[in-house]
Formats: sequence, structure tokens, C-alpha cells
Amino acid sequence: MGWIIVTAVVIAAAFILCALYVKQIAKHNFRCKECSKEFTVNWRTILFSQHYENEYEIKCPHCGHKGCTEISEKNA
Ligand SMILES: [Zn+2]
Repeated sequence: MGWIIVTAVVIAAAFILCALYVKQIAKHNFRCKECSKEFTVNWRTILFSQHYENEYEIKCPHCGHKGCTEISEKNA
């Protein structure tokens, strides 16, 4: 019976860590590759979008272009 609790705790911990990671990214600004405008996105958008390094497949709210670069807060 013990392993079920351990498994549940591990899954819950992994889920929380994933949610915290995504919410951290959601604080950052994103810059559109097409129109170079900066915008922020909902963390749920990040969760369901593909990304490669700091490039995200997120639709720009200004021009509708899909593809933007994450801008780190440290560089701002
Ligand atoms: Zn754009």
C-alpha cells in the first residue's frame, strides 16, 4: 500500500515543479520575430506550446505571426 502513496507524492511533486517552472517563464516578456513587438503570455499558452531553447511557437497578439523569442528579465 505504501508505494501508492510514494508514487502519488512523486507525481504531485513533479506536477508542482512543472507548474512553477512554466509560471516562471510566463513572467518573462516575449518578442515577436515578425514585428519585433514585446508582449507577455498566459502560462497555459506556454504549457501547450512547443519551444526550442528560447524560441517559442506562440502566436503574436499584434500581427498573428507564430514564433517569438523569450526575453529574459535579467537582460531587460
Ligand atoms: Zn508580431
